[in-house]
Amino acid sequence: MQTLEARILPGMQTPGRLYNFAAGPAVLPEPVLLEMKAELPLYKNVGASILEISHRSPEYTDVAERARAHLRRLLGLSDDWHILFLQGGASLQFHQVPLNFLPKDGTADYLVTGSWAKKALKEAQFLGNARVAASSEDRNFSYLPDPAVWDLDPAAAYLHFTSNNTIFGTQFATEPQVEVPLVCDASSDFLSRPIDIDRYGLIYAGAQKNVGPAGVTLVLVRDDFLQRRNRPLPTLLDYGTHTAKLFHTPPVYAVYVVEKVLRWLLDLGGLAAIAKINEAKAQQLYTRIDASDFYRGTAAPEARSKMNVTFRLPSEELEKRFVEEAKEAGLLALKGHRSVGGIRASIYNACPPEAVEALVDFMDHFERRHG
Ligand SMILES: *Cc1c(COP(=O)(O)O)cnc(C)c1O
Repeated sequence: MQTLEARILPGMQTPGRLYNFAAGPAVLPEPVLLEMKAELPLYKNVGASILEISHRSPEYTDVAERARAHLRRLLGLSDDWHILFLQGGASLQFHQVPLNFLPKDGTADYLVTGSWAKKALKEAQFLGNARVAASSEDRNFSYLPDPAVWDLDPAAAYLHFTSNNTIFGTQFATEPQVEVPLVCDASSDFLSRPIDIDRYGLIYAGAQKNVGPAGVTLVLVRDDFLQRRNRPLPTLLDYGTHTAKLFHTPPVYAVYVVEKVLRWLLDLGGLAAIAKINEAKAQQLYTRIDASDFYRGTAAPEARSKMNVTFRLPSEELEKRFVEEAKEAGLLALKGHRSVGGIRASIYNACPPEAVEALVDFMDHFERRHG
């Protein structure tokens, strides 16, 4: 039998490229990587690569405008929405959101459903009255609090929530039903399914989970919400600076890759199409987990994430072996986050269905030998 380095796995084009279940930075569509390769070291006829030219050149401007146009098409965004390509990751948004939108004499509500949500709350509390509307920390963020027990402030400037809990593997099935504008950290499920855009004031997502490489943070902000921001604000941290003009050098290569990923997604059929694929992948994996007592899902079944699937084996010893042997079988990065333990399979948009099939086969095989 050929070595893994020499084999082309089903669904892949490059020998030695394995099935990647990393949580982030995560798998990118292989056609996008091949296009990047083809466009280095020369982009079109500009005499240089896209990394080496001005961010105000017609070529880069065109890339950024096309990325925005793709996003508008994918999400059905009207002209009321600004699309920003910022830096600092989702983590800087934890600060920038309340800095702009938590009024000095007002409040904002937070749904604390995971460690990222908790970090967002912490940054907001440095700045003002950020309230915990609900929390699932009592059971290690393994479920979503029942909306019936949420303690909402009807006068809150916004409700902040994390649509998908990357670490513990829970996900909101739909938007929280509240009167105030939603602010969402969508880092780990952005563009994985259609959303009800009218409920949001602002959405942010680090690109490195589901839409591109590390280095750019996508921020969508609705104009009427933007106008409510606090003033004055430090220039770079004022969203208004970035909606007004290209203020400083953006992460050009990351935006360039994001444009390709968005085009790949449109060619696939857009959000309804990818949602169906994601649904099927998650279903297949959860069905396998539930098929025996050997594997045990860690998230409450009704809150299970379609992006990050978390499960345990009967012992830590077996979990270690599982991760090691999986790697030898061509399945990368299945080790769970240290705060949950066990196994985490991140199955974002660019994770091919063949990868999930291979994982399920490996799980059968592993249980037969160790169960
Ligand atoms: C990864 C992640 C973050 C952190 O993103 P950075 O870009 O590293 O700051 C925040 N929120 C969620 C939901 C994440 O998955």
